[in-house]
Amino acid sequence: MKTVKPAAKPAATAHSADSVQADASAHAHGPDHAHGDSHEAALILAEDYCRERGEKLTPIRRKVLELLLNSGRATKAYSLLDEMRQIHPGSAPPTVYRALDFLLAAGLVHRIESINAFTVCHDLTHCRHGILVVCQQCGSVTELHEPKLRQSLVAQIEHAGYRLASDEIELKGLCSACQAAEAAALATSSAGGKANAGAGLKPAAAAGR
Ligand SMILES: [Zn+2]
Ligand SMILES: [Zn+2]
Repeated sequence: MKTVKPAAKPAATAHSADSVQADASAHAHGPDHAHGDSHEAALILAEDYCRERGEKLTPIRRKVLELLLNSGRATKAYSLLDEMRQIHPGSAPPTVYRALDFLLAAGLVHRIESINAFTVCHDLTHCRHGILVVCQQCGSVTELHEPKLRQSLVAQIEHAGYRLASDEIELKGLCSACQAAEAAALATSSAGGKANAGAGLKPAAAAGR
């Protein structure tokens, strides 16, 4: 697979004309779930970005990116395939995997290894990847943009003699909604005896759905 090179690429020149539009879209991708309009804007931005790189956001790649935008959280490849088959019944797994490979290489999506899923980069097309915090329960992902923190972490890692295997820095977490659901479930189970206290809690839709 091709290597993603986020920070290294001096894309600033080509971006100057689009920077206003790009910033608007980046804001639309904050923690709150974006609406259809901003998804459309994000897709157009991604198309432009690919064109600048001399690549093409083909309809299938675009659709996979759109499905991830709609999902708003990390989503498993087979869920994407299921959704794709509802639109194009004949879709084969390699179609979706190839599209994902392209989007990964372009830096438009992240692979979330801890839950084996994919999510749209919060910094779509800006190629400044942050530190990913991933809810292990529901797959929601927050991308912390703390360049100094990231740099010093990478420096420490290199000082220890290591090189990161990928650009992704991923931390496992439990989001506030899932923490609340867990607390509620614990309250319920302690009120109703200790039965099932340790059972798996599935408050929100599972990442793979
Ligand atoms: Zn990113
Ligand atoms: Zn969660």
